[in-house]
Amino acid sequence: MTATFGGRTRGFTESVIRGMSALAREHGAINLAQGFPDFPAPDLLKEAAARAIADDVNQYAITWGSRRLRDALARKYAEWYGMAMNPETDITVTCGSTEAMVATLMAIVEPGDEVIVFDPFYENYGPDAILCGASLRHVPLPMGAPLDLERLAAVFSPKTRAIILNTPANPTGRVLTREELGAIAALCQRFDAWAVTDEIYEHIRYAGPHVPMATLPGMAERTVTISGASKTFAVTGWRIGWAIAPAVVSGAIRKVHDFLTVGAPAPLMEAVAVALDQLGSEFYGRLACEYCGRRNLLHDTLVASGFRATLPDGAYYILADYSALSELPDDRFARWLTTEVGVTPVPGSSFFSTPDPARRLVRFAFCKREDTLLQAAERLRKIP
Ligand code: GLN
Repeated sequence: MTATFGGRTRGFTESVIRGMSALAREHGAINLAQGFPDFPAPDLLKEAAARAIADDVNQYAITWGSRRLRDALARKYAEWYGMAMNPETDITVTCGSTEAMVATLMAIVEPGDEVIVFDPFYENYGPDAILCGASLRHVPLPMGAPLDLERLAAVFSPKTRAIILNTPANPTGRVLTREELGAIAALCQRFDAWAVTDEIYEHIRYAGPHVPMATLPGMAERTVTISGASKTFAVTGWRIGWAIAPAVVSGAIRKVHDFLTVGAPAPLMEAVAVALDQLGSEFYGRLACEYCGRRNLLHDTLVASGFRATLPDGAYYILADYSALSELPDDRFARWLTTEVGVTPVPGSSFFSTPDPARRLVRFAFCKREDTLLQAAERLRKIP
């Protein structure tokens, strides 16, 4: 059977991130691999979800998202970013931003098109492109160095259908500057390409406010803005995400979404709407501040343990260089750190488009309670 089995998935590899979570469980190691919080979600959300279930909000909601959540989203985007949208036609609520990304690409990309992605990048974008028959073109976006705009311009062509932007970025924490966004916007306009933005870490920022690509002049009509509740409200298992796009594109995204999943979980949409309506700048400010403390704690630990790492400007990961500690390739180092030290990272190579035998990087997630990070620190400081 295996010879005829697979189709589009033949080129897929297993998710390295989820594989490392399984390895951490197997060895009782502290899981700093998969990016999910180990602290509770705000009570307000949990109570609102429980109330919605008790009130029997238990059947399918409108396919593209409950009216209440779409209205709350339109208000939040208007208030925070000055973004105007029609909740009736421009917003699709999906099962996490993961579904929003794949539904968007399936809606806008034709087989043979090219999609540009920065390197390193979040592992899902590869399979997403394969599913819609596109080929990915990669451009390096290193930490602590400007984007090479000439190199980026050279990759754009009439075949370019879209560029995927993830800012703040997983795994580096790199944030695109307003100037870089402006240059990318100009290229999208020149080549009639879409900007598809994964903004899931929009509220986890350590240096200035988040700038959505859709707020740049001329970009609202060619941007699909993707985000979700997972990271902001510490509810990665709820699977509530969304895509905001002009009506025609939203129409196509909604068709894909309808046939893929019918809709996102109805009572949880209610709870996210309540959170969007009731939590204001105090909540978002505290969120960023608490994450800043976790970031500094993990960064200090890593540096004290012999890693080299730059402080991320956003998101909740540190991509750290271990070349002073070990000669092992990254997959073996990540396994060794799990079994011998009791802390699990993700091998850096799973975020790069091409292998490099000289690369010595692993990614640590710091969306964890202080005592989890302190325990990890105690173990990491004992690295021989
Ligand atoms: N975004 C999270 C991470 O990068 C979760 C990934 C996942 O489960 N695929 O770790």
